[in-house]
Amino acid sequence: MLISARMGESESGGARILVVRCDCGFEVRGTGDEVVERMQDHARNVHNMTATREQVLDRATSA
Ligand SMILES: [Zn+2]
Repeated sequence: MLISARMGESESGGARILVVRCDCGFEVRGTGDEVVERMQDHARNVHNMTATREQVLDRATSA
């Protein structure tokens, strides 16, 4: 992956906003914790899959 999302580093003093898109087209946007939580919910509810934090962040790009 060309774009790496770095977590936990302050940029303009706040949490950076990430975008994560699912294969089905579903997209979430928010801080690292938010996108991880929402994508995990989505994966479980819609695809009956379990996504790890690493898997979610691996797909994240900067907003
Ligand atoms: Zn999906």
